[in-house]
Amino acid sequence: MAKYAYRDKARKDIIYSNSAIEEDRNKAFFCPNPNCEAKLYICAVDGSNSAYFRATKAEFKHIKNCPFGNSNTEFDSKKYDESKFRYDDAINNLLCTTKTSSPTTASSAHGTGKPSIHPPRTLRQIYSLCKSLPIRGTYAGKEIGSMILDDRSEYRYSKGCFGNKIIEATVNGKIYNDKKKEVYLAAPVNSKKYVLTLTFLDESLYKEIRTEIYNNRDKIIVIAGRWKSAGKSNEIVSEVYGKKQVMVIKK
Ligand SMILES: [Zn+2]
Repeated sequence: MAKYAYRDKARKDIIYSNSAIEEDRNKAFFCPNPNCEAKLYICAVDGSNSAYFRATKAEFKHIKNCPFGNSNTEFDSKKYDESKFRYDDAINNLLCTTKTSSPTTASSAHGTGKPSIHPPRTLRQIYSLCKSLPIRGTYAGKEIGSMILDDRSEYRYSKGCFGNKIIEATVNGKIYNDKKKEVYLAAPVNSKKYVLTLTFLDESLYKEIRTEIYNNRDKIIVIAGRWKSAGKSNEIVSEVYGKKQVMVIKK
């Protein structure tokens, strides 16, 4: 359920769901995933941000594991405060061992009418934000392609993928090494150009993440990390501090 799609098979002519007009209602558009043959139609065109592209025809559904074929790519921008979004702060908050308690700000204590909204902060929220916009789109002044490594943004990372990044990955071959307490993934999902190593200090966290990834080895795994070179240019490594960094994409 994408927030954008393409008018042409070459994926040059982009259309945003919130700018689709009445005459687009019966037109078929192309999925943002160039490997996906789905035909997408705009739903709820009555002039709002909540319009989405959906593969409504049974014979032209999204391919298996298409990131745009499920609700994880839905991001309702009205529910979040874009002006307060700081990408590195958001990622750093996912990469800490301490459990962050739910914020108890005073703003909600007295009903002054306006419910307080916060910037996107969970991995699910930031991931769906990244998938709801094209790679060259921006959020809070930051380009989407600089936040996420996926099949769309791979071309930007020819020299490697370093620092705070969200990566859309999958399992490819060997999954883990109990002796080293390491889990292995490949990214992006289609090209599998990069080998990702996840390291752990905590034994029980290692076992939990290892088991979750093993049990979902046919699915897309999204991981937030602080990536460093692991030797070769296509090998990167990040420590995993907590469960907040890892998400399995389920339908
Ligand atoms: Zn698709």
